[in-house]
Amino acid sequence: MIRRMRLLVVLLVLLTATTFARVGGGQSYSGGGYSSSSSSSSYSSGGSYSSGGSYSSSGGYDSSDGEAVGFILEMLIRLIIYYPKVGIPLVIVIIWAFLKYGGNNNRPSSPSNDFKKLQEWSSSNTVRQKQPPDLNSFKTADPNFSTPMFLDFLTSLYSKAYLTAGEEVRPYLSQEAQSSFSYKDVTAVVIGGVTVVRALAREPRDLVEVELESNLSFENGQKLFVVESLILQRHHGVKTREPEIVFSFSCPNCGSPEGVNPDGRCGSCGEKVNDGRFAWVITSRQRKHSTAVPPVVLSSSGEELGTDLPTVKSPNLSAALSQLQNKDPDFSKDAFEKFARETFMALQSAWTNKEWEKARPLETDFLFQQHQYWMDCYKHDGLRNVLEDIEITRIDWARIDLDKFFESVTIRIFARMKDYTIREANNDVLSGNPTQLRSFSEYWTFVRRAGVTSKNREATRCPNCGAPLDKVTHVGECEYCQARITRGDFDWILSRIEQDEAYR
Ligand SMILES: [Zn+2]
Ligand SMILES: [Zn+2]
Repeated sequence: MIRRMRLLVVLLVLLTATTFARVGGGQSYSGGGYSSSSSSSSYSSGGSYSSGGSYSSSGGYDSSDGEAVGFILEMLIRLIIYYPKVGIPLVIVIIWAFLKYGGNNNRPSSPSNDFKKLQEWSSSNTVRQKQPPDLNSFKTADPNFSTPMFLDFLTSLYSKAYLTAGEEVRPYLSQEAQSSFSYKDVTAVVIGGVTVVRALAREPRDLVEVELESNLSFENGQKLFVVESLILQRHHGVKTREPEIVFSFSCPNCGSPEGVNPDGRCGSCGEKVNDGRFAWVITSRQRKHSTAVPPVVLSSSGEELGTDLPTVKSPNLSAALSQLQNKDPDFSKDAFEKFARETFMALQSAWTNKEWEKARPLETDFLFQQHQYWMDCYKHDGLRNVLEDIEITRIDWARIDLDKFFESVTIRIFARMKDYTIREANNDVLSGNPTQLRSFSEYWTFVRRAGVTSKNREATRCPNCGAPLDKVTHVGECEYCQARITRGDFDWILSRIEQDEAYR
């Protein structure tokens, strides 16, 4: 019976996993699904392969049949509700497959099956949520709000909270959250994905709930892969401070970097600042899942969803483009597309050659870290995601946002490539197809600081000093000119990749 269940689970994985390898394993801040163990929340409609517990952290399929059945039913119900076009035919296929193959206990195991067994709870292996909550809703009451800046803030806050046992980011942690980060032995935090579960812009308090998937390293050398839920709140009507204050975790009231006492009072202005009256604060952290075994990305099985959908264009695209060209007369669509293409190709190359440090200058801190996480997972398992014959076939313009502190441009890139994953030791193909080109499209969002003007430069040269980007530190500093080039202070930088079926 367990074998039967395994087969069903594998089928589900095959047919529902719309995860792609490519750069970052098809991850995006909202495109990933949920790995939460809870299935009750109406917001966590993403579903997940871990929901029913059948993918236990220690060994995948070795759970009881009862759990597996519950898990499969849950998956199916979610599919039928959120993706009826997939869900209903899937039920038919599963019943058919169960009848036809269910009793066969002599199926040979192949590398591909072994690989699938490694599929675990990772958020990359989930059905995607149809309509992720929209962080842009905070802009109505807070015109300073910028989604890329918020995500960068949130992820570095989370890392710093762990790395300093909360001490260096006290203004942004409630009293309760502060004690929940009081670990003393975390040495590194790499965030693999952020999923926005709720975004409520309303009186009296704004609220954001996210799930973060990350890899924590400890002093004793141990690693832990965790999924945690965070809630952030602030009083409705609070305006986002300038990036210098936000990113340095200074006092959100007076801007002093001096630090805040354990009771949340600023040493400089004396205000209690960690109660949401001045800025977002984390009010709760909850661990949903943890395992010592890294998740594995299934590359390019299943159908590519969404490639045929029309491009989602913001209604004010052409107005925003003229506005941008007014502010920056040298801005040209052609030059921007050329830059985007160079970035795209450089990233695919760094990814497939496992030279991810070459991507450092091309992505914001948040995105780079997220991709690093997946790269580490591949490395850990001795896998390589091979990308070959890469070609960009089309670029559509989707959205331009001119916020107070940041400007962003979103384009939809259509491309095709061979995309498969091998075990490096013996070159076994574990997933994907080495002979077939795969077409797909993704929304790529580039950001820069408001006020920066266009430079005619190659994506592979420093936007500040023009030197080659071969000496960029882990924090994004060009060693030739010492400028920190990964926050968009000098030119466009890639801040998000969203899958077409998740973008709106
Ligand atoms: Zn202060
Ligand atoms: Zn430089």
